[in-house]
This record gives sequence, C-alpha cells and structure tokens, in this order.
Amino acid sequence: MIYLDNAASTRLDDEVLTAMMPYLKENYGNAQSQHAAGRASANAVMSARDKIASLAGCKPEEVFFVSGGTEAGNTALKGVCALHKKGHLVLSSIEHASLSESALDMQKLGFEVTFVQPESDGAVRAENIAKAMREDTIFCAVMAANNETGVIQPVEEIGKICRERGVFFYSDCVQTAAYLPLPVGFADGMGFSSHKFYGPKGSGALILRNRNNVLRLISGGMQEMGFRGGTVNTAGIVGTAAAYERACTSRETVNAYVKGLRDKFINRVLTEIAGTRLNGSLEKMLPSIANISFDGCDGENILFLLDLKGVCVSTGAACAAGAVSPSDTLTSMGCGIKEAKSAVRFSFGKHNTEEEVDVAFEALKFAVEKIRNN
Ligand code: PLP
Repeated sequence: MIYLDNAASTRLDDEVLTAMMPYLKENYGNAQSQHAAGRASANAVMSARDKIASLAGCKPEEVFFVSGGTEAGNTALKGVCALHKKGHLVLSSIEHASLSESALDMQKLGFEVTFVQPESDGAVRAENIAKAMREDTIFCAVMAANNETGVIQPVEEIGKICRERGVFFYSDCVQTAAYLPLPVGFADGMGFSSHKFYGPKGSGALILRNRNNVLRLISGGMQEMGFRGGTVNTAGIVGTAAAYERACTSRETVNAYVKGLRDKFINRVLTEIAGTRLNGSLEKMLPSIANISFDGCDGENILFLLDLKGVCVSTGAACAAGAVSPSDTLTSMGCGIKEAKSAVRFSFGKHNTEEEVDVAFEALKFAVEKIRNN
C-alpha cells in the first residue's frame, strides 16, 4: 500500500507506542485516584502537559487534553458563545466542519454568523476578516492552514485585529502543528490532534491563553483542572506529548524531506499529465499537501482507480468523502463545480519514499488516461 493521505491521519511512530505502552499495561491507574497507581498516571499527565507547554511556548495550565481538533474547536466556539449568551461570530468559509457546524448550531440558538471567503490563492485576507467584524462580534475562527489545499492563513495579522477589538480568536492548528510553531502569541485558543503527526487517534490538545474566556463544554469531575470532566486518557496523552516532541524537534528535517517528495510529485503531474492544475498558491502551502484538479475527470473515480492499485488518496476532507457535492473550500476559492469535483488531495508524510511517489505517479497517470478515454 502507498499511503498518500497523511492529512487525514498518519501511522503511529514506534517510539510513541513504546512511550504509551506502560500506561496501557502496568500503570493503568485512574489519574484521579489517591494511590500509587493513580499517582503514576497523574505524574505522566503532568509531565506531558509540561512538555507540550514548553514546546508550544505557553504555561502548563493553558494546555487542556481533549479528544482532538473537533472537540477543541467545539469547546472554544461554543464555550465563548455560552459565556456571552448572544453576539456575532466571524469564521473563514474554509474552516473544518468542527468549527463551521458548531457556528451553524449556535446560529440556531440566535447567534449571528458571517463566513468570509478566501481569495483564489486559497488564503483569506485579514482586511476581509476586519470588514466582517461588528460591534457585537465575540468570536473569530481562522484555521492556521486549510486541510484540503494546505494553504497557510494569515493568522498573525488576524490575531492582531481580534486583539485590538477584544474578539476571541481561535485558530485550528490541526494541519500545522507538525509543520509550524503554534500561534500562541496571536491566538486566544488553538487546537490539534496527535494522529496528524504520528501520534494516537482520539487525543489532542486545546490551548487556551485565558480559560476564563471559555465556558467548559464537558462538565463532570475535576479532571483537566476542572475544565473537562471524564477519566483522562493517560496513554493517549503520553503519546500526544511524545509525538508532539518528536514533531517539534525533527521539524526542519521532516519539512524539507516531505516538501521534496511533494514538489517532485507536483512537478511530474503538472508537466507530464495535460489538463492539470494545482489548487491554491504553492508559495503559501504547507510542505505536505498537493490538491490537484484533472480536466475531464471526476476525483471520486481517480480515487477509486488508485485504490485498486493500492494508492490511498482523498478527494478533499476525509469527513466529507462520499458526499456528492463539490468541495466548499475549492468553490469558495473560485473553482468551477467541474474543476472542484475533479480535485484530488495527495498528502505526503515522513514515512513515504521517493520510489512510492514515482509508483503513485504512474498509477495516477494510468487512471487519468483511463477515465479520459472512456
Ligand atoms: N480541523 C482540521 C483542519 C482537520 O483537518 C481535522 C481532521 O481532519 C479536524 C479539525 C478534526 O480532527 P479530529 O477528527 O482529530 O478531531
């Protein structure tokens, strides 16, 4: 199998599994328990929190372990709304469903929502976010980079605009946590999932610079400093910290390696297969993602033929796969319906090899020719 869907999920690193194992086998105590087994768990969670805080550049008490990016986004958006009880939200129109659907839920409760479109390069403009803001704006969400195109968003500028206006700014860092530092100096809230960078699924973090700005979503026991009830996932948390540490300490090397593979693939596709277009501006892209449209093809058909050859790719967001409608992200960048439907996302990771890139390219060329000749 050639796995080119690393933006959807990645393979757990052996070292991360090794770090997690003791907390699945020997140290299985509940981190809330008042005995040696509980203390072993609690200490592991405390070290994981310290590690993430020092790598991210924030305080340990600002790091909350959650189940991943979806919970992080829901908690921030709904938690700000719950405190304000009414108001206006500004989101980019290319947010992951965890933010956009949360905003639509809040709209049903009486909050007003404005979605701001990106430009054709895939990035939203800070001035358009500023224009969308109103006196009663309480919350703004712009992701650090888009999951379909990999285009990096101007979060520093947007963060400054939000700060000047006293608007809570959330940046979904699920796709960038491995590749870029977290925007702790510009955002009030940030979230990530460890399975995007060779950690375990169902585990991630929400960083809140001031927890008092957000009402907790999950009430229960005193876990996570009273902010998120429920027995903590000790092994997942240990794995998250181990994976994040590995991502941060190997960032330069991994970024360069993955970019090399991705750029080689893009070059081959754009020069050797006619009628192909890269969606989004390459200069603004994460090193890992290539979203390409293929004239005269349906992305779903390409995915199917590649799957038959053992190559795993995606047509846009994994959570939206199977949906017949074209990607909102691509259409909001100005792609036509046909062009958007013909798009395929290839996402590369550190476990991929050059040879895999070449084999995947040949399979892709064959698939596109087959579809076009039908
Ligand atoms: N945000 C972005 C940008 C994503 O790409 C994803 C997952 O693909 C999520 C949020 C949700 O992450 P999870 O499913 O781990 O909660």
